[in-house]
Amino acid sequence: MAKTAGACPCGSGEPYARCCRPLHAGGVAPTALALMRSRFAAFARGDGAYLWRTLHPAHPLRARPEADVVRELSRAHRTLRYQRLTVHDHDEEGERARVLFTAHVFERGRDRSFTELSEFERVDAEWRYRDGLTASEPEATITAFLERLS
Ligand SMILES: [Zn+2]
Repeated sequence: MAKTAGACPCGSGEPYARCCRPLHAGGVAPTALALMRSRFAAFARGDGAYLWRTLHPAHPLRARPEADVVRELSRAHRTLRYQRLTVHDHDEEGERARVLFTAHVFERGRDRSFTELSEFERVDAEWRYRDGLTASEPEATITAFLERLS
């Protein structure tokens, strides 16, 4: 696990201790956007258990053994550098929400950044990551995704 001092990996500008750490420590995200940011921070820190906990029960990864998925998600940060998160837009309606973002990710210097339209759904009053449409050509697809959001 990475250290807890310093700026939050989600890029909010807040210290980690006051930003995503309370959620990683067991708190409930007040909004889908907060959950999305905390999941990015969890990827950056290699917190696979949190990533598992915030998956919607119907997410495909939930069909696999928890221990395997947690191990894989926890390892991702060893080869991938989660450098920066840009949130383009988001909306929330009742029990469902969507967030459009670009994750700036690098693998040994190679740009693995992607843009995703994430879908979230509340389960037992907690936001969970349901699904996402990703694209590896951010500039070309942001406009198309934004049209889906409006
Ligand atoms: Zn944060």
